[in-house]
Amino acid sequence: MIIDDAEFGEVIVRKNALARNVKFSISTSGRLAMSVPKYTSDFLAKRFLNVNRKMIREKLPVKNPDEQRARDYQKKLLTKKAKEYLPYRLEYLAKLYGYNYEKCRLTHANTRWGSCSSNRTISLNIGLMKVPEALRDYVILHELAHLNHMDHSKAFWAEVGEHDRNYKTHEKKLKMFNPGV
Ligand SMILES: [Zn+2]
Repeated sequence: MIIDDAEFGEVIVRKNALARNVKFSISTSGRLAMSVPKYTSDFLAKRFLNVNRKMIREKLPVKNPDEQRARDYQKKLLTKKAKEYLPYRLEYLAKLYGYNYEKCRLTHANTRWGSCSSNRTISLNIGLMKVPEALRDYVILHELAHLNHMDHSKAFWAEVGEHDRNYKTHEKKLKMFNPGV
């Protein structure tokens, strides 16, 4: 359920069979989220929110409704750009260097630029559309190299280095950006 709150904007209410009391947190979109016991009525959920308003204001970094909407819009835009670009760039670089992957998946995690799973699925973060092309290619080459080395061993880095001579600089520069939208 969503509570439309004048101060906090859209508040996400998650009814949870295991919850014994109310817990507040921040969702990835910056919205306030509350987890409540399963049989909590909407009326009661709103009361919990009101009772805790002061604490939330002081302790939780809730994005205001305008920021929430701006973030939604940015995410939509990045997703569109990413869909039109990342799967093709991955395919191109894989062909160029002779890699075979199974599937490309787009993600929007807050912490990782990409990953490679043992079933040869490569996941790429839509946030890559915000970083310079050289860094974007570095992440793709990094994940492709994981197809051959599922670790960060010397052999792994040697392989990354074969396709991206500046991988150390790229890895460092990437830290200046945040994968989250
Ligand atoms: Zn890695």
